[in-house]
Amino acid sequence: MEICRTKAEMRAVVRGWRRKGETIAVVPTMGYLHEGHLSLVRKAKAEADRVVTTIFVNPTQFGPNEDLDTYPRDEARDQALLEQDAVDAVFMPSVEEMYGAGGDTYVEVPGLSAILQGALRPGHFRGVSTVVSKLFNIVTPDIAVFGEKDYQQLVLIKQMVRDLDAPLKIIGHPTVREADGLAMSSRNVRLSSEQRKEALALSQSLNEAEQLAKGAPQITDLEAAVRGSLSDAPLGKVESVDIRDAETLAELGGALDRPAVILLAVRFGTVLLIDQRVVSPAT
Ligand code: AMP
Repeated sequence: MEICRTKAEMRAVVRGWRRKGETIAVVPTMGYLHEGHLSLVRKAKAEADRVVTTIFVNPTQFGPNEDLDTYPRDEARDQALLEQDAVDAVFMPSVEEMYGAGGDTYVEVPGLSAILQGALRPGHFRGVSTVVSKLFNIVTPDIAVFGEKDYQQLVLIKQMVRDLDAPLKIIGHPTVREADGLAMSSRNVRLSSEQRKEALALSQSLNEAEQLAKGAPQITDLEAAVRGSLSDAPLGKVESVDIRDAETLAELGGALDRPAVILLAVRFGTVLLIDQRVVSPAT
């Protein structure tokens, strides 16, 4: 496995593959890898000749009061996991390497950036779309794989690629969960044991909502049911429960009449957990 710490090293590796006519898939991550990330890597391997995983804790997508400094990191363990999964190259640049003396150009998807998580985290999605564009320009992949866990991010990246005619295909991959249903996240290690138990309420509320959705309920009733179920976790502060069109994230009203995504954000202490589920009325 090639370890590339500079853009020049990464580009040289890619040039070698391109000369042989090989296709490339990229899996962007912030490291501290878990089975969720590795499932994206396996999907990427199934779709292209070569797989690059990027590991970069991107400062521009963290707000001033967010967990940039405490975001978990373990380079050696990440490398060992990627090696086991036969990743071809890992791109792990420093902040200086990525941003140099600072940039003056941003990529922004203003509509999708301003809503939902974007409204709670100003600047977050501008940081994401800018760094992902930079990674695409450095790795020049044919395919990029993103998790449905970060559902708004996936919808936004698809829109960005469409709007800019970026020459690659975006693939979304289902959320991987712990045995008890908690969505895997690098942040889960920072939950206390009490918080960890209560964090199950997220996936449980989504399971219940999935059943309810089959009866084509009023959107407001579905939301009330999810909030009710989340109240089983008094240590969690519910930041948002949103039910939106699964494809466009447009607001929905009246009775559920199409696939919708339920998006949850619940804060346990300093740890923000998110989860999502696409639900549909029974046909
Ligand atoms: P992160 O390192 O949290 O930025 O995540 C990197 C990529 O892995 C993103 O596309 C995430 O959506 C995806 N991802 C994170 N957690 C999971 C999970 N539990 N299952 C599937 N994909 C995930």
